[in-house]
Amino acid sequence: MKYFGSSGIRGLINEKITPELAMKVGKAVGKEYKKIVIGRDPRPSGQMLESALIAGASSMGATIKKVGILPTPTLAYASRAIDCGIMVTASHNPAPYNGIKLWNPDGSSFNTHQMERIEKSIDGELDLAPWDRVGTVQENPNAVREHMDLLLDKMGTDHELKVVIDCANGAGCVETPFLLGEMGCKVIALNSNPNGFFPAHDPEPTEKNLADLGRTVKNTGADLGIAHDGDADRLVAFDKNGNYLGGDLLLALFASQYDKKIAVPINSSMVLEDIVGEVIRTRVGDVYVAERLKEEGAQFGGEPSGTWIFPEISYAPDAVYGASLLVKMFEEQDIQEKIAELPSYPTKREAFKTNKKGEIMRKLEEKYRKDHDETQLNFIDGIRIEYEDGWVLIRQSGTEPKIRITAEAKNERSLDKIFKENETILKEEI
Ligand code: MG
Repeated sequence: MKYFGSSGIRGLINEKITPELAMKVGKAVGKEYKKIVIGRDPRPSGQMLESALIAGASSMGATIKKVGILPTPTLAYASRAIDCGIMVTASHNPAPYNGIKLWNPDGSSFNTHQMERIEKSIDGELDLAPWDRVGTVQENPNAVREHMDLLLDKMGTDHELKVVIDCANGAGCVETPFLLGEMGCKVIALNSNPNGFFPAHDPEPTEKNLADLGRTVKNTGADLGIAHDGDADRLVAFDKNGNYLGGDLLLALFASQYDKKIAVPINSSMVLEDIVGEVIRTRVGDVYVAERLKEEGAQFGGEPSGTWIFPEISYAPDAVYGASLLVKMFEEQDIQEKIAELPSYPTKREAFKTNKKGEIMRKLEEKYRKDHDETQLNFIDGIRIEYEDGWVLIRQSGTEPKIRITAEAKNERSLDKIFKENETILKEEI
């Protein structure tokens, strides 16, 4: 059966995600990996799932290191020199959800092939370890300290920025405010006690959820505002005037720190081609960005959802490191000026309802292959067509009966032309 999506296993607690399922995942992982590190975000169901995973894995003879509540990138970093990391989290989803995500020693999350192997074992009959080979469980409280020390080594302790941080009461609470403090920043921490009921706001770092943070940055005269999602693998920011710096803008800002090669999903802005020498376009999803980043030896990977991957740390999106890097960038550069310098291109997005999205996408692919030069086309995730002064992406929704058109161009006129041309073609098929 298929249990894993691109972000691991995730769903409502005691409906899709049960202790029985967690125990089976634990057994399946314990069959293949004999040294496991396990951590979680602060959701109320976290300890239940953690206990079931540990019971399953140790019954197969795996030894377990328990690292408690910590950010996902910190767990991924703790997986180095160990066979496998397990993170119990539902990331930015509301409190009733939880999930399980698996990590390799280099900080990359399990790829499709690895997940399929685990799925097979979940459904299979497994032989438990003999009584004297059952795995042991050790607590290790040092994982956060070790990750912080790595980052402090890189960033130094002589910073002075005034920073407001909103951890959404998620896993970031145990690390980012302390890291920024040790870096020398003056830190005002909002919602920074771990509470998996997420009493302040849902743990998705949208502008709407973060209104308090924007106001606090402005009212306290801070230089920068930073927010995480529930497991601190995502980061968005606010400037000193309380303006939200969303994913697209931050992607361009982070990209501007690199000169050679970056990896980004196929639906992100062409402004990146103006900034960096080479831009690798990947399927949509941080897992695919990380995969291509690794294959291509790129310097940085990012997704407009707020995930930033820095291979100098690991192949996991690391919003804790991202926060420290942002502090440095805000100190060294006039960010307002930098943002003003970035070209801004108009975009248009629209969704079209259909119950035959797969069939229509196949027909469109055939048609576009006939009508366009091969060098203009990219089918890595939907259909992307390059024009002289813009691009369009036609892509089916993963979750809804819809096909979306996204277009971006150098000016409004070209945008209109590109969008209409492709809208007409899609509407003929619907
Ligand atoms: Mg997350």
